[in-house]
Amino acid sequence: MPMRLPPASNDGTQLAAAEAQLRLASEKLRLATSAAKIGVWEWELTTNKLTWDARMCALHGLPEGAAPTLELWKQLIADGDRAHFEHSTEQALNGTQVFDIEFRVTNATTEEPVYIRAAASILRDSAGRAGSMVGVSWDVTRERSAEAQLKKRTRELERSNKDLEQFAYSASHDLQEPLRAVAGCAQLLKARYGKQLDSGGHELVEHMADAARRMQSLITGLLAYSRVSSKGAPFERVSLNAVVEVALKNLSSAIQDCDAMVEVDPLPTLSGDRAQLVSLFQNVIGNALKYRGSKPPHIKIHTEIVKGRNVFHVTDNGIGVELEYADRIFELFQRLHSREEYSGAGLGLALCKKIAERHGGRMWVSSTLNEGSTFHFILTALGERLVPERSR
Ligand code: ADP
Repeated sequence: MPMRLPPASNDGTQLAAAEAQLRLASEKLRLATSAAKIGVWEWELTTNKLTWDARMCALHGLPEGAAPTLELWKQLIADGDRAHFEHSTEQALNGTQVFDIEFRVTNATTEEPVYIRAAASILRDSAGRAGSMVGVSWDVTRERSAEAQLKKRTRELERSNKDLEQFAYSASHDLQEPLRAVAGCAQLLKARYGKQLDSGGHELVEHMADAARRMQSLITGLLAYSRVSSKGAPFERVSLNAVVEVALKNLSSAIQDCDAMVEVDPLPTLSGDRAQLVSLFQNVIGNALKYRGSKPPHIKIHTEIVKGRNVFHVTDNGIGVELEYADRIFELFQRLHSREEYSGAGLGLALCKKIAERHGGRMWVSSTLNEGSTFHFILTALGERLVPERSR
């Protein structure tokens, strides 16, 4: 707000009061900018005179009361940011852009780089000619270095994640070969020497073949898991109605065996990896069949918009999951039951979660023990809204 002196008056008391008021306002402003660690500056265009307050001097590592020049200011600005500073100043002066920029300066005392944010207004005369530029500057180094550190950590994490995925992929790939040899030997042993083995021998060979089969399924699951982001197919338009149809077809004998009922509401088409989406639905529906209670499974699949995003729900009436394990079941190899109770390797939900994340979403569960569970997942990035197909 431009401040105006009161009109000249003969009344000395009135003038003195106005001056005192002005001094008070200016002192309040000084206190406020000092508390916020904001430096105040002014550049008079006609005289080219630059005025800095004490905070401005401190920000640039100059002694209090120093008389900086515009040339010195520009010298302190980092080489890479000087042109940006000059261009922004020009634009502000000719009125095309508001002056609100960030640039690096070198502290004249410590010679350390400082990130400065500066904003200014132009004071013009009645003809619109720029008379001076009045601005504030403050130090944003801490915010910028925190951001840079966060970016660096994210990059490191991404790299180590990639390395781990590559390791899991190579390890599981290389483990298949010796495993096949073990399984083959168990078969040969049974075929060639079966007659010479007693019942204990047969039992051992069966154990061996069974362990090799289990190991094979663990390796296949691990391979699929490590392939989700590194070896996934490029995204294409995928109808989730068709995806669920394929998943149900693949599970048709299991569905018949337990007399399950599956209700599917219209689902939308989205951009995704078809094979991975089939795998996600198949795993979740397969689990709803496997972890069923005493009644025949009743499974419902539907979608709804929650806070602008499509959430998919697969609800069952099975044994349910205890709330304290709700997060753990999405981790690799985490199971809540023994192999004797329910077959499985503890990889399915970890895979599903990774698939949802590759599609920009996430996955979680809500459940009541002995009554059933609902697996919820989002398959799109923020802002994408899908329309179920049959309601178009
Ligand atoms: P797996 O089925 O091979 O054990 P998953 O990763 O698919 O592996 O599931 C992890 C665990 O989550 C299961 O062992 C089971 O305890 C629990 N779980 C998964 N789906 C359901 C479900 N629909 N109802 C109850 N528990 C479930």
